[in-house]
Amino acid sequence: MADIHPLKGSCLCQAIKYEVKEIKPHMAHCHCSMCRKFHGAAFSTFGVVEKKNFRWITGTNLLKTYEDANGTKRQFCSECGSSLIFIPSEDTGDTVEFALGTLDTPIQEKPDAHIYCSSKANWYDISDQLPQYKEGREE
Ligand SMILES: [Zn+2]
Ligand SMILES: [Zn+2]
Repeated sequence: MADIHPLKGSCLCQAIKYEVKEIKPHMAHCHCSMCRKFHGAAFSTFGVVEKKNFRWITGTNLLKTYEDANGTKRQFCSECGSSLIFIPSEDTGDTVEFALGTLDTPIQEKPDAHIYCSSKANWYDISDQLPQYKEGREE
């Protein structure tokens, strides 16, 4: 799949916009308690792209960063609160993890796993056939 048009994404208030090319193949639904809080939802889903394939279009001045005690960082729109970016504590800077739900362009790729199921919300039942990992995805 050479030279696909970039996918477009934005926050709820549209002040922040970004473009993404070539999402990496593995995407998981993360049920950890931090992702649940960050998204205000049963789980989060992040797409991963190489840094060179991710570009902010506008609104980075509204991007706010929350750093947790464990060293992970999460970025969101300070105007509308949309969850946008996850940065791991051991960030290599090579990739960007963005909240898949903020994409505006439809994609072909599908998430292929559930991770951190040990912290899953007890009111949510996983009803698909994807592999479920207690914690991170095993190699
Ligand atoms: Zn916004
Ligand atoms: Zn998580």
